[in-house]
Amino acid sequence: MTAHIRTQVGIVGAGPAGLVTAAVLAAAGIDHVVVERRSRAHIEGRARAGLLEHRTVEYLKSQGLAGRLLTEGRRAGWSDFQVLGERMHLDYAEITGGFRHWVYPQHLLIRDLCDELTASGRPPLFSTPVRELTGLDESTARIRCEGLDIDCDYVIGGDGSQGVAHKALAAAGGPVSAALRYPYETLTMLAEVDRPTEGVTYTLAEQGFVGMMPRTATISRVHLQIPHGDTPADWSTDRIHAELAARLGEFTPGAPRFGALTEKRMLLMRGHIVGSMRHGRLLLAGDAAHLLTPFGGKGANLAVADAALVAEGLIRHYKDGDDHGLDTYSDRRLREVWEVQEFSDRLLRLVLQPDGLTPAERVFALRMKRATVQSLTRPGWQSTAFAHQYVGSGMHCDGPSQLPPQA
Ligand SMILES: Cc1cc2nc3c(=O)[nH]c(=O)nc-3n(C[C@H](O)[C@H](O)[C@H](O)COP(=O)(O)OP(=O)(O)OC[C@H]3O[C@@H](n4cnc5c(N)ncnc54)[C@H](O)[C@@H]3O)c2cc1C
Repeated sequence: MTAHIRTQVGIVGAGPAGLVTAAVLAAAGIDHVVVERRSRAHIEGRARAGLLEHRTVEYLKSQGLAGRLLTEGRRAGWSDFQVLGERMHLDYAEITGGFRHWVYPQHLLIRDLCDELTASGRPPLFSTPVRELTGLDESTARIRCEGLDIDCDYVIGGDGSQGVAHKALAAAGGPVSAALRYPYETLTMLAEVDRPTEGVTYTLAEQGFVGMMPRTATISRVHLQIPHGDTPADWSTDRIHAELAARLGEFTPGAPRFGALTEKRMLLMRGHIVGSMRHGRLLLAGDAAHLLTPFGGKGANLAVADAALVAEGLIRHYKDGDDHGLDTYSDRRLREVWEVQEFSDRLLRLVLQPDGLTPAERVFALRMKRATVQSLTRPGWQSTAFAHQYVGSGMHCDGPSQLPPQA
């Protein structure tokens, strides 16, 4: 027996994109259902992003969705680059006149948003994998799950880069997607640290790149570039500790000591951006539409910005009968997504090194990188532009009107 639900907006996926859309629609009194294939415990324990941009938090604040974030989150306003023994400090909070990141792990934001939706009387349907989307070109779309069909006016596809929404959009044809596999390999993991790291540190050592990103007082996320062809199994905890000591030791007085390493896996080193974020009654948001590498920490922030704009479009549609927001959603978001992708690509290519360089080529490349970092960290237009893009001040974007540019 298949159960049926009728709602205005069906949302696939309880990540930042789906949950923020749902919470904003709930506050506006628009009926919706979120379906998530995993359990609530699973998504609330899945560590991923940790740096929320200024404008992301301003938006969540404006929607009443940042309560715990504002009391429990920490601020980050600088990054260090370490190249060939030289440590260069980028005080992006100072350069931008006060804009900072919020350090708040993504799974805690997910927990807060699930609490919010539960309190609104519309908790997500957990452990409910969506099998198929149909009727996207008809008067009613259908989200088909095992034993449940959800009929709706619009489907928000917030189910990530491998989800059914992405596949349904690809199958529908339309403008081609763009995709790139980067020729670098990087391990990522959570590392216990004996002291909190306040800012992000990018170390460009001869052996390869190490990135350290703050998460909590005792946990940092660590990215470690490894040779092409290596897998996580090739990197034991002892080998990683030794490699971190070798790459960081020479540069970092007072660097944290690393303890247990968890959640070790390969970073996805690819980008994928759809040609259109809309097909008929389906609107994509977040990773379902644009998968970036984690360089620059942009994915979750873009997901929230998508949610803000798509929710605004839906609210105008239902409250005022105005479809301009929904009709322009894809073009407006893709323009910003490509700007952010370009920034993330620039940062990635700055800090990672190609495999197979001779020693002379490696030194050449590192000295070039040092010159680039120097230009980004000394006062001037380059550092100002970089700092605003890095912190996501919102001053160079075409986001929804709720994203204010002031620090
Ligand atoms: C290691 C790592 C570090 C990162 N660091 C940062 C950072 O510092 N800053 C930043 O901004 N971003 C970062 N990101 C990226 C960020 O985590 C993602 O961009 C973000 O989660 C995208 O949100 P989303 O809502 O689009 O998708 P997701 O968070 O992936 O959510 C999609 C949801 O859909 C569900 N789903 C999938 N298929 C189905 C189905 N068939 N039926 C029902 N549900 C389904 C999934 O279970 C999932 O819960 C990082 C990512 C990784 C992996």
